[in-house]
Amino acid sequence: MHAHCDSLHCFLPPDVLDHMIQSDDPTVREAAARTMATSAALRSRRVTIAGIPGFAGTPSPTGGKHRLVYDAQRRYENILDNLVRQEGQNPITDEAVNEAYDNAGITYDFYNEVFQRNSIDAAGMALISVVHYGENEDNAFWTGDKMLYCDGGIIFGSTTQDIDVAAHEFTHGVIQYESRLEYRNQSGALNESFADVFGVLAKQRFNNQTVEGANWWLGGDILAPALKERGVRGIRTLTKDKAYENDPLLGTDRQPKHMRDLYTGSADRGGVHINSGIPNHAFYLVATELGGYAWESAGAIWYKALRALSYYSNFEDAARMSYQIAGADYGINSREQQAVGEAWAAVGLAVEKVRVVA
Ligand SMILES: [Zn+2]
Repeated sequence: MHAHCDSLHCFLPPDVLDHMIQSDDPTVREAAARTMATSAALRSRRVTIAGIPGFAGTPSPTGGKHRLVYDAQRRYENILDNLVRQEGQNPITDEAVNEAYDNAGITYDFYNEVFQRNSIDAAGMALISVVHYGENEDNAFWTGDKMLYCDGGIIFGSTTQDIDVAAHEFTHGVIQYESRLEYRNQSGALNESFADVFGVLAKQRFNNQTVEGANWWLGGDILAPALKERGVRGIRTLTKDKAYENDPLLGTDRQPKHMRDLYTGSADRGGVHINSGIPNHAFYLVATELGGYAWESAGAIWYKALRALSYYSNFEDAARMSYQIAGADYGINSREQQAVGEAWAAVGLAVEKVRVVA
């Protein structure tokens, strides 16, 4: 069974495929067509483990950090046949295996040490990573119980190379056990946004970067050399900038940073990888206003919001919830609460609408 963006949580924004399919380069067209065909074949049988409440993760024998890395050997089936590294074992010669192992550990430590969360399900579930998934696809996935990493083809190199990709997929898992934000429309864009926010935060903490020292991009370390050479720095950015413009391969970044530019079409499950730009930028504004380490107060407020929201929550719910949490934890009209209110107002979700009435 092929993983794809229609049924699973994927890293690559699907509109990039729409651009690639129109390329003058037959290699690019074929790569895009192959990925799209995979999507079409599976559209009829959605894999929605992620939507089942109370779905149980694979328990870990130790009840704590327990990583298992499998080599799919470029297959789509029988992907758990080859367990190649497990918790406590030494690195092997395959770098993708070691990267998946290390990044799962870095993300586990981030959630555990910053938020006292024991793994994806908060109950110590084993962290299953599958590397060399499929034939040179440009994507990484969270399937509901494991992380899949493709080797990359045209846009990406091995998708195991970036902490923020691993932490992005891990966070889709966390959401599955908390707010369970439905993966379509605004709730889906929130789902994507939380995955991006905690993706960059896990990386910032590992690199000991302050708000000013971090670059706020996603996927920078997995880009193919040709893209890096022409100055592309990542696949998404939380800053006000566009991640790429008129790029021959990627086209132009479609992420809005304000509600007036909200995408209202039906592509990409109602724009889950597009409209995530709005809450992403709101978080960036909160973090830069507060300064220091973004995972501390800004990240703590966002983590509580991730847990407190629910299946159909929209952007306004997220704005109201984070504003209330900031007021409860740091004080009404505290610097933190003001930063949250102002950030949401700056992306078009006015603070008046979300002000707490005592
Ligand atoms: Zn995602």
